[in-house]
Amino acid sequence: MKLAKRMGNVAPYLFASMNAMKARLREQGVDIVDMSIGDPDIPTPRHIIDRLCQAARHPENHRYPPYEGTMGFKSAVAAYYGRRFDVDLDPKTEVMTLIGSKEGLSHLIWAMVGEGQYALLPDPAYPVYDTQVGLAGGSVHKMPLLEKNDYLPVLDDIPSDIARKASVMFLNYPNNPTGGVATLDFFKKAADFCMQYDIVLCHDAAYVDIGFDGFVPPSALQASRHQVVETYSLSKPFNMTGWRIAAIVGSAEVIGKGIGIIKTNTDSGQFNAVQEAGEAALGTEPEKVIAANVAAYRERRDLMVEALRKAGLGVRSPKGTFYLWVRVPEGETSASYSAKLLEKTAILVTPGSAYGKYGEGHVRVSLSVPTDRVMEAASRLAAGT
Ligand SMILES: *Cc1c(COP(=O)(O)O)cnc(C)c1O
Repeated sequence: MKLAKRMGNVAPYLFASMNAMKARLREQGVDIVDMSIGDPDIPTPRHIIDRLCQAARHPENHRYPPYEGTMGFKSAVAAYYGRRFDVDLDPKTEVMTLIGSKEGLSHLIWAMVGEGQYALLPDPAYPVYDTQVGLAGGSVHKMPLLEKNDYLPVLDDIPSDIARKASVMFLNYPNNPTGGVATLDFFKKAADFCMQYDIVLCHDAAYVDIGFDGFVPPSALQASRHQVVETYSLSKPFNMTGWRIAAIVGSAEVIGKGIGIIKTNTDSGQFNAVQEAGEAALGTEPEKVIAANVAAYRERRDLMVEALRKAGLGVRSPKGTFYLWVRVPEGETSASYSAKLLEKTAILVTPGSAYGKYGEGHVRVSLSVPTDRVMEAASRLAAGT
């Protein structure tokens, strides 16, 4: 088989050895608490499921959906942005339906970078950005996210010759994997930097509805509307990861002339019935669903932060996301400590190095597991076994 040359640049699957170990332990009957994956355990609310079932029965929904998304879903996204962020969006030109934000982020990258062009990416980060820039033949400049900078990139550290060759910058707040958050003021600085160098700013807002302790995460579109886009996903706030429904919002130019061209030539949109279910999610007391989820994550966060600290580990209590970014003990690496934790306590976490070289020295603990399992993990940490 002759694979495409670009396949040689795809990073090997970093979770492979962890998976092998997981399989081996499960075979031995070990009860693993799997805190390695960010995937809500709480089911999708009933009214959303009911809407899908109804919509699935309509024959007009069995045909190809509109490429750019249904007006119903796009209007629901625009209305939500108006209420939640006071951001005014034209559903026709400034909103496009995505088959999950992972799809949108990948296709945006294909529209924005290629040979000789740079993407400015956070590190540690969701691995999709880096992999897709590599596949698209673009170059990457990593912006380190360090604890001493509250997990925000230092824009002044980006060399100006690289900034001039960059066409897109990705940010993600509240942040996976660090749990760091950004203020509106930071988004303004980032947007100013991007404007100065004619760079499109893409904010991955997957966790924008998951904030704690009175912190209400902002949208990057509140800071600037000039060449700024944001991916908003229903996956995490509405427990809909399996449904594959999200939207890209913001600059009509980036959407219409950029990602829209790639998408219409690549996919044929999301099932109308799933978009109707998305309308139900955004249109029927979304705040109530989100508040219940946030309350569950906050309880789990507090349980686990206390247990980790009692076990002598350094961890910040995050103001957003459902992840804890935990410093590994002196003398350990992310990988060695993840393996040790699995062997000793059967708690599975993700090594920080899987998210980039600046993730080394940390492990990521996901709170998207039932609260009784979080309690189980806490008691195993206390027992040290
Ligand atoms: C979960 C996640 C996504 C993917 O969301 P989908 O809409 O389900 O594709 C995107 N970005 C980050 C940072 C995530 O953690």
